[in-house]
Amino acid sequence: MVIDLYSDTQTRPTPGMRRAMAEAEVGDEQHGDDPSVNRLCERIAAMMGKEAALLLPSGTMCNNIAVLAQCRPGDEIVADALAHIVNVEGGAPAALAGVSTRTVAGDNGVFTVEQLEAAVRPPKRAAPRSRMVVIEQTSNHGMGRVWPLEAVAAIGAAAVHHGLVAHMDGARLLNACVASGVGAQAFAQHVDTVWLDLSKGLGCPIGGVLAGSAAFIEEAWRWKQRLGGAMRQAGVIAAAGLYALDHHVERLADDHAAARAFADGIRPAPGVRLARDAVDSNIVIFDVAGTKLDAEAFVAGLAKRGVRVGAVSATRLRAVTHLDVTPAQVEAAVRAVCDIAAQQGR
Ligand SMILES: *Cc1c(COP(=O)(O)O)cnc(C)c1O
Repeated sequence: MVIDLYSDTQTRPTPGMRRAMAEAEVGDEQHGDDPSVNRLCERIAAMMGKEAALLLPSGTMCNNIAVLAQCRPGDEIVADALAHIVNVEGGAPAALAGVSTRTVAGDNGVFTVEQLEAAVRPPKRAAPRSRMVVIEQTSNHGMGRVWPLEAVAAIGAAAVHHGLVAHMDGARLLNACVASGVGAQAFAQHVDTVWLDLSKGLGCPIGGVLAGSAAFIEEAWRWKQRLGGAMRQAGVIAAAGLYALDHHVERLADDHAAARAFADGIRPAPGVRLARDAVDSNIVIFDVAGTKLDAEAFVAGLAKRGVRVGAVSATRLRAVTHLDVTPAQVEAAVRAVCDIAAQQGR
């Protein structure tokens, strides 16, 4: 069996989750008549301390709609240079909303108020209008780094001061909560809009839930309808989300322990260098330039040994732990990395 560390999106629904999906009470979601969807949205809105929430087919659509509902063409978003919304969403802010992005070079995805303020445009007719700041919790390409609560609070306060909307891409917000012991609401109180992905560490097959004020969610519904994100008997999906909130949140700590074990295991491998020494959550990024193999060759070597990881640059690989990775598999993956690195050294 392949040891799949490619992403935490690679999980299969567990038997318990499949049962919950099969038995879900359903209705017409786009008319507000699906009781399971309504329960999930109410639960996540309450968890975030927001007035309302809505279910969307993907996290990407959560980001898209947050931008579309809150920005006008010609507006500008400030985000970290590593951010998902900047790099891996097909240029959606520009393509769909006519919005430009201004990037900040943070520390593994976490930037400071000073960096934000340097990126905010002074109000000038000739300049784009700075409109939104995006906090990615945790930072995917920042090796799963957790934004500390004080950093989120500081950015939130600066956003208010500069008249910006603060948006949290909380694809892995619950990983941040479990890793830091800080509640979702404590983080979310500092932003206007926030979402979490059901299909990452929570182990669901599909979906994201976006939360904010009632007025925002009303406008978001219009965009959901417009983009074709309105569904029918989506309770089948929501039931997986409800099941995951009951059974798959606390166990994220296991994924974090597994990621630490993986990082500790590969640290001594010759020519391998971790992108960041600390492992905050479930993502490990490591550079293999010192082994004289490029990332693709290293990925191919691992694949031959039954381990799947992704290349995130010419020299960097990303390994992500999740529900379907056992501690024994992590040990085997460590051996595979060390083995390849040692062979290169000979
Ligand atoms: C995965 C991810 C997304 C997009 O979510 P999808 O459900 O894959 O569309 C957005 N932001 C971050 C940080 C992610 O990791």
